[in-house]
Amino acid sequence: MSPSLPNVTSKIWPGTGPDDAYLGLVSQGPGRKVATTLGLPAPVELRRHDPARPTVSGPVVVLSPTSGARGPGETAATEADDLATHLLGRGLEVHRHGDDLRKVGAVVLCLTEVRTPSDLTAPALELGSVLRKLAPGGRVITVSRPATGVALGSAANLPASGDSQDYTAVSRNAARQGVVGFLRSAAQEMRGGATANGIVVADGVSVSAPSVAGSLDFLLSGRSAFVDGQFLVVGTDQGPADLAQVPQGEAPLSGRVVVVTGAARGIGEEIARLLHTQGAHVVPVDVPAAGQPLSTLANELETASLSLDVTAEDAGQRILEHCRSRYGRLDGIVHNAGITRDKMLANMDQAKFASVLAVNTEAPLRITEQLLADPMADGLRVVGLASTSGVAGNRGQTNYAASKAGVVGMVAGLAPILAARGGTANAVAPGFIETEMTAKIPLARRQVARRLNSLQQGGLPLDVAEAIAFLLSDSAAGISGQTLRVCGQNLVGA
Ligand code: NAD
Repeated sequence: MSPSLPNVTSKIWPGTGPDDAYLGLVSQGPGRKVATTLGLPAPVELRRHDPARPTVSGPVVVLSPTSGARGPGETAATEADDLATHLLGRGLEVHRHGDDLRKVGAVVLCLTEVRTPSDLTAPALELGSVLRKLAPGGRVITVSRPATGVALGSAANLPASGDSQDYTAVSRNAARQGVVGFLRSAAQEMRGGATANGIVVADGVSVSAPSVAGSLDFLLSGRSAFVDGQFLVVGTDQGPADLAQVPQGEAPLSGRVVVVTGAARGIGEEIARLLHTQGAHVVPVDVPAAGQPLSTLANELETASLSLDVTAEDAGQRILEHCRSRYGRLDGIVHNAGITRDKMLANMDQAKFASVLAVNTEAPLRITEQLLADPMADGLRVVGLASTSGVAGNRGQTNYAASKAGVVGMVAGLAPILAARGGTANAVAPGFIETEMTAKIPLARRQVARRLNSLQQGGLPLDVAEAIAFLLSDSAAGISGQTLRVCGQNLVGA
């Protein structure tokens, strides 16, 4: 059975994705019983975005701590109320307790006010008591504040919070970081394609900020199907002044001009299609050798492609000229073009190491620098393609991991430069994605690799594209310098 992918022609290679034979066998009926009895992985088909279906598969329960000391003027109840109000505004059925419900679509835990580690106990147990009622494809989302001095994920440069002379700040820091460990473990306990993710809201930014609302919308929806055990860090309250204008329809990128490199096939092709579906004018870029598939895609998307090797010295200038002459504007670029040249380090040669760095990191760096030299790039949204290999490392991929960790560093470094121009820079780090490339991995290795995450299956190129479209949208205006993993909570490495 294939998932419903409205308005998007998704390429599924034989033996991959929803055609993954094992997934088909165990996702329901007797096969599922056998797998569960034998303790084998029992993945289910993920709930992906479908405009014909509700965003969430049942009522949403908004929880906040009911224990712990509260001082005058503290805003715990108000912040949970603000989240509930936003969800009601989205037309969702919202409850403040799950006791009387038979089925729950999602649980949102407002943990912004935790002061000591013990403040986590009551909301954690309350979540535990409703977990059995969580619908297939359900969602758990924590909303919390950052701990000072702890890098979250790979690139978060978190703002200081509170007075370091005050020991209560130390206790609060422990509680805040406790949310991270709690959520990541809860994510590993989810069943039925449900996921658990968090939103970390910088001190001084309201939980009603547009990107908190936008992150909630994204994480609740089927657009985040393969995002699991991750945190979106909202650093500013940038975005539409009126929450109702946080894009939520089917075309949040309407009228935007977005360049996608490496668009002739694989993940890039899917990104280009989805951005087009969401209303963007897409500029697909790929090497001259990929001219045929590139122009076929461009015809389908009713756009003009740009035949270009991203490593060319003047690549950024050529992108600017193309966008200026056709649209007079440029709103975003997705640095997706990438190559692998795997070898154990002892066998690595200069060409293999240098070429991977040149395509995957140096080209995005040079192109972005050239774009930023032009006023047309004011407000530019940059998204880089990192990889879980760049986060956790991978045997035989010292060159690739260096290049992809480089992308993580690049977006973190670009964030303040772009902030001054009203733009953002983020990266997406895919894990095991079902593409032509991974379909070539020998069967036994492929079967093992795709089960090594909490959702026990490979993601689809569409899952990566959805995360990128979110980061390009106004919903994510307050998120910058971050790397979002789209890996089903890959269990290997960091
Ligand atoms: P792919 O090999 O199928 O496609 C890459 C595209 O980039 C190709 O069309 C290729 O022609 C183009 N390209 C390569 N060098 C170029 C250059 N110098 N100039 C212009 N275009 C160039 O790869 P994919 O699997 O779709 O991966 C896309 C991106 O996602 C890459 O950056 C990759 O590193 C990253 N990624 C993929 C996975 C995965 O599981 N497939 C996992 C993590 C990260």
